[in-house]
Amino acid sequence: MLRRLPIYLLLDCSESMAGDPLKAVETGVMSMISTLRKNPHALETAFLSVLTFDAKARVAAPLTELISFTMPKLTFRPGTSLGAALDLLREQMAKEIVLNTKEVKGDFKPLVFILTDGQPTDAWSEAAARLRSSSAIKATIYAIGCGDEVDFETLSKIAHYCLHTDDLTKEALGSVFAWVSASVGSRSTRPEVEGEGEVQDIPLKPGLKLIDIKNPPKFTGQNKRVYLHVLCSKTHKPFLIRYQLLPNSPNYGIKDILIVSDDFLSEGALKSPPIDANRLGGMPVCPHCGALGWFQCTCGTLNCINLEKSKNNIVTCANCHQLGRLAAAAGAFNVDGSVG
Ligand SMILES: [Zn+2]
Ligand SMILES: [Zn+2]
Repeated sequence: MLRRLPIYLLLDCSESMAGDPLKAVETGVMSMISTLRKNPHALETAFLSVLTFDAKARVAAPLTELISFTMPKLTFRPGTSLGAALDLLREQMAKEIVLNTKEVKGDFKPLVFILTDGQPTDAWSEAAARLRSSSAIKATIYAIGCGDEVDFETLSKIAHYCLHTDDLTKEALGSVFAWVSASVGSRSTRPEVEGEGEVQDIPLKPGLKLIDIKNPPKFTGQNKRVYLHVLCSKTHKPFLIRYQLLPNSPNYGIKDILIVSDDFLSEGALKSPPIDANRLGGMPVCPHCGALGWFQCTCGTLNCINLEKSKNNIVTCANCHQLGRLAAAAGAFNVDGSVG
């Protein structure tokens, strides 16, 4: 019987990955697959599965042989439920992996690569403990943190090896996946040898650093990015304003504005500690109707300010359809954002 080398990719698809980073991840996985298909050892033994996580964890692709693997399209949603992803990983491995018995040699020790750029927003520690203790399957887990707000204190409790890249650019993520494919390629040459081809044997690509998991960098807990979920008051379509912490300041400026799918918030919008709206600078332009700025309805929904001139500058909330006349905001107020 064929002994497989199972590879699980756990990909963070929270809003912090929106836009170019997610495209770079797709490209990275596809180039990894084409590299591995050229490696006869990998082609013979490596099987790949992709799990994604946002507010929920999903099986984007079950464990599939390399030759017939097709990369699923990735979409982003709010939330970073790493705990749910670890539980899903445990369930999938229990279903998919053939264990050693007296009669047959089962699959080789699985490799798990977790790619994330944020902080988990759910109860990850119990899930991590379940994964590391209860399962008969002992996988080697790598966590690759990308960007400048990675919580390595958490990741070092989950993974056997942690790596860090500062950037979420195409080049940086390209380096990450080149390294991942080198690791898989190396493991697949002698997968029966425990520990062979693990991190110490693979030269790190430029920009990629190994984290000392016994002494991980302290996580400041400060959110460098805040996301506001806004509805266009004219078209009722959603969008996301991404704010970035300004240097040497407690305040945020607009980084970019992203159109999201209509069902973006349908599965578990999450609430983070409200943020003082006065700390959010800049005047966003609604990507749907071109209106300037946003306001918060009494129902809590954020709307773009599309004034209905014919009706004395009234705005209608896209969620609850209340009419509101726009008055100058007095003093500070808090809005619910998310930190993904
Ligand atoms: Zn609008
Ligand atoms: Zn409303």
